Amino acid sequence: MHTGPISQKLFATAKTMIPGGVNSPVRAFRNVGGEPFFVRRAKGSRITDVDGKTYIDYIGSWGPNILGHAPAVITNTIHEVAKDGVSFGIPNPYEVEMARTITDWVPSVEKVRMCNSGTEATMSAIRLARGFTKRDLIVKFDGCYHGHSDSLLVAAGSGALTHGEPDSAGVPKDFAQNTIVLPYNDAEALTALFEEKGELIAAIIVESYPANAGFVLPQPGYLDHLTSITRKFGALLIFDEVMTGFRLGKAGVQGLENLTPDLSCFGKVIGGGLPVGAFGGRADVMDMLAPDGPVYQAGTLSGNPLAMAAGLAQLKELNKPSGYARLDQLGLHFETGLRALMTEKGIPHRLNRVGSMFCLYFIDEEIRNVTDVLKQDFEIFNKFFWACLDKGIYLAPSPYETGFISLAHTEADLDDTLSVFSDALSTI
Ligand SMILES: *Cc1c(COP(=O)(O)O)cnc(C)c1O
Repeated sequence: MHTGPISQKLFATAKTMIPGGVNSPVRAFRNVGGEPFFVRRAKGSRITDVDGKTYIDYIGSWGPNILGHAPAVITNTIHEVAKDGVSFGIPNPYEVEMARTITDWVPSVEKVRMCNSGTEATMSAIRLARGFTKRDLIVKFDGCYHGHSDSLLVAAGSGALTHGEPDSAGVPKDFAQNTIVLPYNDAEALTALFEEKGELIAAIIVESYPANAGFVLPQPGYLDHLTSITRKFGALLIFDEVMTGFRLGKAGVQGLENLTPDLSCFGKVIGGGLPVGAFGGRADVMDMLAPDGPVYQAGTLSGNPLAMAAGLAQLKELNKPSGYARLDQLGLHFETGLRALMTEKGIPHRLNRVGSMFCLYFIDEEIRNVTDVLKQDFEIFNKFFWACLDKGIYLAPSPYETGFISLAHTEADLDDTLSVFSDALSTI
């Protein structure tokens, strides 16, 4: 349960100046009852802490590092592009190439605007949907994370038709009241809500495959239902693909499921590890944005040349035959080994995996939404997490997170990981 002495010292110092010692809460390791290690460097599938311990990493900076850490194609690009300047605040050619790539790869996106984080993307998409429909209510699903803007920090109250309670202090109740929270995968609750209030609803925002409360998959027909009900009532459907976009394939979940949302949000993978976000979709909706339309949205660093170039370099790699197909192959190798291991150990579990994303649950029940995720035995997860970390496997420090495999992982890395899992499972 202990990190090295240099990490401990840094964390103690950090806590005196940074709230909780971290710049984003999950990094504090509170969910697993410990303290974080501090990173010195990372390369490929490996991350090395300030005390010199190296781990095989299954977080990849929470999604962006799909090629692994510090791939030469990205670091070289950043070096080269930076020589010509790091920010201009006026258009640069990389923005056009990025827009071309996104609109080519994701058919539902006719126009796209770049921003600096996933939070900005979802916040702006919500504002745009409200501006376009001239309605105020939005619908989100319990357990779906869309960043930390006021309207979206509402997740409590899985009961259908309950008005949202803010999930954070500082969010006015009046704001939260415009956000309706429903359980994911409950088509009936959604139909009932729209039959009552459909004409007042601006949009549904959904993590198409929820990946911030474990990794949950839609039941057959559920995502189609979201499409048809929004169309029927003149609301917009917003796919938050900040996590899944450009990770599960060229067109994310909407490509896998052959769906056409009105708006989509991106981030993480498209920035190649630099801060980025994007939202886009129907041209008639996007044209409501300033300077063409009345919905205001802006950003000093939006379309930043380094972020655009790094993202483009990453997407170019993914577009090769050694890209998504290879990620799928690695994911399947890991899944097959892990299923066999869990069965051999006789441990009740569920494993959700699509491409390079996976989540292991220490419970043998169907996982339909966050309520099911919360039924897990968290003590088991904690023991498992620390036993793995001790042996050099870095999983997300929370039972609510998805694991990520990168193109830098090898079959040998995955097999080594499974052998550590095997030992760790014996200790729980
Ligand atoms: C990470 C994430 C966000 C927020 O993105 P940030 O860049 O952290 O602001 C929003 N939605 C989803 C689905 C995410 O996974």
